Amino acid sequence: MDAKKVLDDLKRRFPNEVEYHQAVEEVLSTIEEEYNKHPEFDKVNLIERLCIPDRVFQFRVTWMDDKGNIQTNMGYRVQHNNVIGPYKGGLRFHSSVNLGILKFLAFEQTFKNSLTTLPMGGAKGGADFTPRGKSNAEVMRFCQSFMLELSKHIGPDIDVPAGDIGVGGREIGYMFGMYKKLRKEFTGVLTGKSMEFGGSLIRPEATGYGNIYFLMEMLKTKGTDLKGKSCLISGSGNVAQYTAEKVLELGGKVLTMSDSNGYIYDPDGITTEKLNYIMELKNVYRGRISEYADKYGVKYVAGEKPWGEKADIALPSATQNELNGDHARQLVANGVIAVSEGANMPSTPEAIEVFQDAKILYAPGKAANAGGVSVSGLEMSQNSLRLSWTSEEVDNRLKSIMKNIHEACVKYGTQPDGYVNYVKGANVAGFMKVAKAMMAQGIY
Ligand code: NDP
Repeated sequence: MDAKKVLDDLKRRFPNEVEYHQAVEEVLSTIEEEYNKHPEFDKVNLIERLCIPDRVFQFRVTWMDDKGNIQTNMGYRVQHNNVIGPYKGGLRFHSSVNLGILKFLAFEQTFKNSLTTLPMGGAKGGADFTPRGKSNAEVMRFCQSFMLELSKHIGPDIDVPAGDIGVGGREIGYMFGMYKKLRKEFTGVLTGKSMEFGGSLIRPEATGYGNIYFLMEMLKTKGTDLKGKSCLISGSGNVAQYTAEKVLELGGKVLTMSDSNGYIYDPDGITTEKLNYIMELKNVYRGRISEYADKYGVKYVAGEKPWGEKADIALPSATQNELNGDHARQLVANGVIAVSEGANMPSTPEAIEVFQDAKILYAPGKAANAGGVSVSGLEMSQNSLRLSWTSEEVDNRLKSIMKNIHEACVKYGTQPDGYVNYVKGANVAGFMKVAKAMMAQGIY
């Protein structure tokens, strides 16, 4: 494989899709050595076929706001690869959404889903619509209009979307209702549903809990655990909330949480009671994290990320490229021992280099946040079986999946000096399964 040529070709054909280029570059640089051991891959130009999505849908979403004005947004679905199972990946509703971001997420999702060992291909979608600041009725009308178009491209054996930034239980419920009405069928076409209509226990918790299960496996390799360790968490949405909950349960201390306006720093630690307040603030009142600082009299830093604070562990759980090289240097200088990503691609390439040069434990989102899609996969299984498993059963399966992903990373990512390059481990393990399936299914 000539990684540079593959990347240059992608940049020429798809200019301006910088996050997509970034994600492809990271994967190519880590799988090149393994890929070149298999000349049969190059004979069928496997890498180019794997980097370019199978298909992309773009559509206009028109809806009426509460004042009677007609609003227009762009909707997308990127179906990246389905060689190991139906397309699967979340929907993101945020004003920053564009095709390049969704192509990066769908590409990453393909490797992540492969790592989970469950039969799921990779996809991602969404719209440049932000639910924040909209009324419930507006969000419902938007979701219905979005599904009017998306329903043509998905199905329980074709493509099964889930939530992501801006898409939680409320949005999934509205979209599910519309799909059901349009298609006259009750199927597991979306995951992240409420428990009353086919959701899985532990799905809301899965990404955050899974990240901490992965972190615990990493810490175990150093003979330690979370007890008494201080943690910086970014974000205060779904992933951040349940990451914090599991950290507290396992004896760690949470010092920070954030939103897109700034972060709070609580030197005494965010307790379970204070976390419940954040959950209500974010999930019910849809307020700002600065309100926590007002209520508990702690520091609020507007317009900044929490990475300058001193702590043992960093858990980025908001969005892509939220932790840059300078942040990484600050974290390392402050003695951080582990960084485990709840968000997708939150660390820039420069930041990753800093962590790996410092030989600290560093887990990319592709491995560490795979718990969310894993439990989505378990939700699909329960829907097909028309059964509901107990919390304990789902949680045990999640723990075992995260442990297996950790083992795969160690297997493929351990360097001669014993340092585990989790990025390489995750990419190679995820890639090999997809590559073998592509080879077996022929050229089309
Ligand atoms: P939510 O919408 O529930 O929360 C997102 C959080 O990140 C909010 O606190 C939001 O702040 C903040 N945020 C969003 N965009 C930005 C930005 N541009 N700059 C700073 N802060 C921002 O999303 P999730 O918790 O579900 O997702 C968080 C991350 O985890 C994403 O990278 C997602 O792809 C990833 N992920 C999610 C999974 C899931 O199961 N939900 C599964 C695997 C990965 P504000 O309220 O101000 O917008």
